[in-house]
Amino acid sequence: MTDKTHKARMVSKKAVMDAKIAKATEERGVVILLKGNGKGKSSSAFGTMARSVGHGKKCAVIQFIKGRTETGEFKLFKDHPLVDWHVMGHGFTWETQDKAQDIAAAQKAWVLAEELLQDERFDMLVFDELSYMFKYEYLDVQPVVDAIKKRPKMQNVIVTGRTMALPLQDIADTISLVQDERHAFRLGVKAQKGIEY
Ligand code: ATP
Ligand code: MG
Repeated sequence: MTDKTHKARMVSKKAVMDAKIAKATEERGVVILLKGNGKGKSSSAFGTMARSVGHGKKCAVIQFIKGRTETGEFKLFKDHPLVDWHVMGHGFTWETQDKAQDIAAAQKAWVLAEELLQDERFDMLVFDELSYMFKYEYLDVQPVVDAIKKRPKMQNVIVTGRTMALPLQDIADTISLVQDERHAFRLGVKAQKGIEY
């Protein structure tokens, strides 16, 4: 491609992009869903949260399932004045093997989530592994959808989980599917600090 053709293409591309940008004028918080079997959902959520924190925004995290206790992100943010971090769940069902305990933990986490969804001081809420609660029927999806819809106008909500409940997808503004094409684990690589947790 000649320099001239390249320039002409870029000029028309810029016009298209500028027109799209001019159309997006609404200012409000968004609901972001990060789903799929690939690696990168929670780390994307916490990466976006780091962005918000960098801009001085107040954030809260609820981990509906407690994975590893001391993840790097937890260590980084737990004492941060702009971040409230709540680890509510106990572990994956196949680890806890106690349904009643899991349901109690889910409900306790939901009480907290509902409070945060009414609290205008929070600019961003990250509900890590929330979708799992619906898959295992620990929580009803409708009250969650209703509370998210009624949240403060500028509040952003990020939900992660491998599978997403459809009513939650219906109200989402952004949905990203993280696809699993390959994972080091299947090549025999052990989970490591700073990558997996
Ligand atoms: P991450 O926290 O790295 O962004 P994730 O949130 O997308 O991962 P989860 O489904 O929450 O993934 O899985 C939790 C753990 O399993 C993480 O330590 C993650 O690195 C690892 N993991 C994610 N996807 C895969 C996969 N396809 N195979 C094996 N391990 C995975
Ligand atoms: Mg995750």
